[in-house]
Amino acid sequence: MLKRLRLVAIMSILLLSFSATSSAHEMYYSGSAPNWAPIPLKWSITNFGAAHLKFNNDSLSSSYTNHYVNATNAWSNSTSKVQTTRTTFSYSNVDILTPTNDFWEQKVGFVNVYSVYGITDITTTDNILIKDSNSAINSTRLIKYGHIYMNPHSQVFGSENDKLYTMVHEIGHVLGLGHPNSIFYPVNDDSIMRQGSYSSYTTPRAHDINDISNKY
Ligand SMILES: [Zn+2]
Repeated sequence: MLKRLRLVAIMSILLLSFSATSSAHEMYYSGSAPNWAPIPLKWSITNFGAAHLKFNNDSLSSSYTNHYVNATNAWSNSTSKVQTTRTTFSYSNVDILTPTNDFWEQKVGFVNVYSVYGITDITTTDNILIKDSNSAINSTRLIKYGHIYMNPHSQVFGSENDKLYTMVHEIGHVLGLGHPNSIFYPVNDDSIMRQGSYSSYTTPRAHDINDISNKY
């Protein structure tokens, strides 16, 4: 009995210390290793505390349209902290599109044309396009607009699941989430936000839901 009580006490201390120190994986950090200081970015438009994303896909190529509804529902089906709707271009705040080949090459660079699958641009409420930690530091840190560019060479994807995975991953960036396997306190958790590996799942994982809960 005593042993069991002691075990419970240790477990609750661990749980407490975990929740006190855990924070969302951010896209940008300042400082240097190992003392990275997070620069939290979050969605500005909320509805009863939930991030409210309004999607449009007018310029998304037909090779991706099958995944549009599932991708835009993936986060809102996983957590009450995210609400999503699909709307016309003039009312949207997140546009998922396929750029021209030339635009894509300019965006990702010649050597990455076939190796990058999707890329997200976020703009803050002061109209700063966030492209590095400096622009993030100097912004309001409140995201008001997202552009998700899907690779116009859709044959680069190994499977249809990878297209959906990429869209759900990029929407995670629009919500302000970074990669949990980046150089800033990396973790091995399963996550839709991991960079460079594709999995059979196409919805946010427990780690991602926790990151959203810490942010919103
Ligand atoms: Zn990413």
